[in-house]
Amino acid sequence: MEANEIVAAMQSIAGAASVASAANDMAPHFIDWRKRHTGVSACVVFPRSTEDVSNVLAFCNEHRIKVFPQGGNTSTCGGSVPDESGSSIVLNLAKINRIVEVNAQDNSMTVQAGCILADIQAAADQVDRLFPLSLGAEGSCQIGGNLATNAGGTNVVRFGNTRDLVLGIEAVLPDGRIWNGLRTLRKNNSGYDLKHLFIGAEGTLGIITAATLKLFPKPRARATAILGFAHVQDAVDEGIKLQMQFPGELVGLELISKSEFDISLRHAAQTRNPFEATPEWIVLVELAASSATSEAWTDRLTEYLRFAFEDGILRDAVVATSEQQRADLWKIRHSITESNVREGMGITHDIAVPTYCIPAFIEQAGKALQQHFPDALPVVVGHMGDGNLHYIAMFSHTYWAALPDRRKTQLELSHLLYDISAAMGGTFSAEHGIGSLHVPEMPIYKDPVEIALMHSVKALLDPRDTMNPGRVLPQS
Ligand SMILES: Cc1cc2nc3c(=O)[nH]c(=O)nc-3n(C[C@H](O)[C@H](O)[C@H](O)COP(=O)(O)OP(=O)(O)OC[C@H]3O[C@@H](n4cnc5c(N)ncnc54)[C@H](O)[C@@H]3O)c2cc1C
Repeated sequence: MEANEIVAAMQSIAGAASVASAANDMAPHFIDWRKRHTGVSACVVFPRSTEDVSNVLAFCNEHRIKVFPQGGNTSTCGGSVPDESGSSIVLNLAKINRIVEVNAQDNSMTVQAGCILADIQAAADQVDRLFPLSLGAEGSCQIGGNLATNAGGTNVVRFGNTRDLVLGIEAVLPDGRIWNGLRTLRKNNSGYDLKHLFIGAEGTLGIITAATLKLFPKPRARATAILGFAHVQDAVDEGIKLQMQFPGELVGLELISKSEFDISLRHAAQTRNPFEATPEWIVLVELAASSATSEAWTDRLTEYLRFAFEDGILRDAVVATSEQQRADLWKIRHSITESNVREGMGITHDIAVPTYCIPAFIEQAGKALQQHFPDALPVVVGHMGDGNLHYIAMFSHTYWAALPDRRKTQLELSHLLYDISAAMGGTFSAEHGIGSLHVPEMPIYKDPVEIALMHSVKALLDPRDTMNPGRVLPQS
């Protein structure tokens, strides 16, 4: 079907006001957040209801038109922009964005897919509850995108990934059928738990249009500190001890290298170095509790850290004594992704290894970079409690632009690091997903039986391969 025919069809199905086809209106939807992936479609469709989504998908399926689902377009792996074919549509969920119900008694809330994550957090807060998913893009990413990528973030150590925060979903299948799986039940063993097929599928099996989410008691007290270590081994050992010491309260455990800390301080507005001299390794730790006061938990954390000092492992520590100080510490952490974009060309790796293997990974990765890519600065930030590291090889823009074959160089570099992770039982994609960027890694690092099963599931749900084609799965 020609592009103009696709536009006309979408206008008649979803209404002219829900279809963008002017170049200027479509442009932001054809490039990713980091400006590394581009594509083009006939139009961008903004459905206003689940029924709209159903009608659009049924039409596209019948006419074999590719559908590229899009939420807040904050994907870091090319999952949210279309391919270059042009004869496709982008389906953006932004207009399906109602908070349907917040039920404090049931500790649940039902929301439509286009709700911005920060708005969901605020709605929970209004009824004295917590929706714990938190990440740097929370002001613009949508819950549908969080679900589709099974996003992680900074609270996974206590509350799990997005998958763990979901009670039910509503999804539209590639042929347009609507599955209403919105439930608030905590127990329901009545057959396969199909919601988990769609969570983390990155839009390749259908569109998530709504979800019922778990809420938690809003913490009454918080204690936050930033710790400095000379060696990464010390930082990880201390992190493991903190997990043992505060099993119910530890909600954040973030590891940051000096190189990364400096980058964030250099580029993020209104940040201040809490240390007199920046340590080699930094750990941001946060406790949250529904009993006692912030002062009491801050005292407990301070007391614990005093012992760590006496052990000689901990070199420096700043404990937040006000909400403002706490916010300032987190600002440094949450500004990292944007600061890295300003700093240079960062080749980012979203690996995970067992937590105790982090020091060995960092040592081996550092040696590999030094040997093969001496122009790269190793930059590390990670959700240490989950073994998830964003290991970044930072190049200057000038160096990177002068390379003859950048994609080849990137693959060589990344596979060096993925080999190290794989040898430790780790993964090449911990929380960001596969998108289009990591498809080449799938046949190398994933079990062939697992890939074959994934192809079977895809063929069952989307035999015409209209949903986000070319993402996640390698060609069979
Ligand atoms: C500053 C910054 C910080 C980040 N920090 C983290 C972090 O800590 N942890 C983390 O896990 N990620 C992080 N990310 C990555 C990203 O924000 C998350 O993966 C987020 O969940 C994506 O949501 P989105 O709405 O932007 O989805 P998009 O980027 O628009 O889409 C992501 C994928 O989901 C699909 N999709 C979107 N909506 C739907 C839907 N309703 N139904 C079916 N498929 C859909 C898309 O096709 C695409 O494949 C960060 C990104 C940025 C820019």
